[in-house]
Amino acid sequence: MPALIMPELLEALQFAAIHHQYDRRAGYSRLPYINHLIKVTNCLANRIGVRDEALLLAAVLHDVVEDTDVTVEGLERRFGREVADIVAELTDDMSLPYEERKRLQVERAAQLSPKARIIRLADKASNLRDLFNYPIEWSLEKKEAYLQNSEQVAERIKGDNPKLDAWFDETAAWARQQLQAQQPAS
Ligand code: ZN
Repeated sequence: MPALIMPELLEALQFAAIHHQYDRRAGYSRLPYINHLIKVTNCLANRIGVRDEALLLAAVLHDVVEDTDVTVEGLERRFGREVADIVAELTDDMSLPYEERKRLQVERAAQLSPKARIIRLADKASNLRDLFNYPIEWSLEKKEAYLQNSEQVAERIKGDNPKLDAWFDETAAWARQQLQAQQPAS
């Protein structure tokens, strides 16, 4: 990792940790939100080998506008235009119902910029891992719907990074197996 990225990355981690400090992962008991942001960013940096500073900073900050009172303008002042633009692309309109947001993610996936696509795909893979690695109060139907939605989004944005595509495919196949294993025996 180029040494110059380190101070900025720590700045972004601290910023995310502070703004998400009372957030917990939806459905999971008390799982700190920052764990998710570190997991996605670490996957990109160390599993996929991403070295692009704006991409890694945006990965740390990808949910900060959606889930906290931070604005895109505030992000731009602190981390620059490129990072703010990537995060804006990844921000769902939280005034819409859950199903609608998931539908729009699929519909708009192909329009994402290449850097936003990379983060979206890593986010989906990471969420699928969490979904079956931690106890969560979701029905099997909701888990199945999440997996399907992730696969639909992935279909539209794969192709930029073979390593990441393979990681997503492997994760989705693993999630499918987990889902089958959780089906009640008939
Ligand atoms: Zn996320």
